[in-house]
Amino acid sequence: MNPFEWADARSVDEVFALTVKGSAIKAGGVDLVDLMKEGIARPTRLINIRRISGLDEIREENGGVKIGPLVTLATVAADPVIRSKYTALALACGKAATPQIRNMATIGGNLLQRPRCWYFRNELFHCRKKGGEICYAQQGENQYHAIFNNGLCAIVHPSAAATPLIAMGATIELSSPKRKRQVPLEEFIIPPMVNLKTENTLGGDEVLTEIRIPALPPGARSFYLKQGEKESFDWPIAEVAVVLEMETETCRRASVVLGAAAPTPHRASEAEQVLQGQRIDEPVARKAAQAALKMASPMSKNAYKIPLFQTIITRAILAASQGVTTGGGEA
Ligand SMILES: Cc1cc2nc3c(=O)[nH]c(=O)nc-3n(C[C@H](O)[C@H](O)[C@H](O)COP(=O)(O)OP(=O)(O)OC[C@H]3O[C@@H](n4cnc5c(N)ncnc54)[C@H](O)[C@@H]3O)c2cc1C
Ligand code: SF4
Repeated sequence: MNPFEWADARSVDEVFALTVKGSAIKAGGVDLVDLMKEGIARPTRLINIRRISGLDEIREENGGVKIGPLVTLATVAADPVIRSKYTALALACGKAATPQIRNMATIGGNLLQRPRCWYFRNELFHCRKKGGEICYAQQGENQYHAIFNNGLCAIVHPSAAATPLIAMGATIELSSPKRKRQVPLEEFIIPPMVNLKTENTLGGDEVLTEIRIPALPPGARSFYLKQGEKESFDWPIAEVAVVLEMETETCRRASVVLGAAAPTPHRASEAEQVLQGQRIDEPVARKAAQAALKMASPMSKNAYKIPLFQTIITRAILAASQGVTTGGGEA
């Protein structure tokens, strides 16, 4: 690990004042410190934002909810408002990583963490994402990689929180010394063909200062399912967030987003179309799950993800339609 300075910021303005070339923001530090140990990130100064007050609150406003970027995954998972109104998000945060990590990790850091591709994480591999010529996953160990949009770089987006937040139409607020901008999370996260070197449009002088989920329509119910390879301490190999706007047993509108499937959280529009206007039962849920995977292009070692996704999508649709609020899969 390279030597670095430590600076505590007590306000967002102090973050701006402390920012220098080569500095990095540290929230929980779970991902950033890993990247430093792996030799992938070499910041000259860490700006600790953990002590900034006001960025660690959840509050309801105008029928929706605002979540500060410093709220931990454990707090999101336990919050009564999130659990009852935004169930899929509570389940996703509650199933990520381990209890110890969820107590350290912030939701902002979760959205901004770097990909888990083992070639990316190994400083000996100078792959395309790091400016090299080759994507080693294409011919190599690609069992955990993308089954959609995997031609250029086959990472899967690592954030569990992003999957339900996108399904719910969340936006984020980014603050810089000159302005604040609001961006739909779905647009903020970008695929490798837009920019190979980064996973989002965060500017070098920007701080993520808020996550907003709009009021969900009446009758909206959500659910999230994660499948890992083992039952604890594991990343998802497949995950899905479903939001259904229900009128009795009929679905007025559906939002289905897959995680661990593509370089960005993957909106399964084909499944959404199948569900719209339908009475939700098992055959309809299965049909939607099959449609969701129609355009998948698995690599040499990850075709197993197709039936896996079909199973968890079917189950998540049925659970959302029935208003189930507990579960969520492996933990
Ligand atoms: C064993 C293990 C299992 C895991 N399993 C899962 C899992 O199943 N699902 C999952 O989603 N994650 C999983 N994780 C990842 C973990 O959830 C993330 O590393 C964590 O959420 C990152 O949050 P943090 O607060 O520690 O971020 P940090 O490490 O502090 O920051 C991450 C990045 O975000 C930037 N950053 C942070 N906050 C801000 C801000 N407000 N504004 C601008 N930039 C900011 C930092 O500069 C850094 O680049 C796992 C991690 C481990 C070690
Ligand atoms: S998937 Fe992306 S990060 Fe992984 S080796 Fe290929 S180019 Fe690098």
